[in-house]
Amino acid sequence: MKEALIRSHIRFSSTATNYYICDDCGEYHLTSRGKKNPLLDDPEVQKRIKNEQREQDWLGKFNRK
Ligand SMILES: [Zn+2]
Repeated sequence: MKEALIRSHIRFSSTATNYYICDDCGEYHLTSRGKKNPLLDDPEVQKRIKNEQREQDWLGKFNRK
């Protein structure tokens, strides 16, 4: 689920700060409420999000041509 949280930031510039197990469906969901997952404060993770967003932007421009 850590990966899903990171990917949501890369792909959708998500504001989700954490994830939780849903009482209704038993699945994990992302949330922007509550406390921030320490994962997102990890410099390595932040670097990765930035790098992969840049890469994604570049690919997006390339595909539009
Ligand atoms: Zn649910």
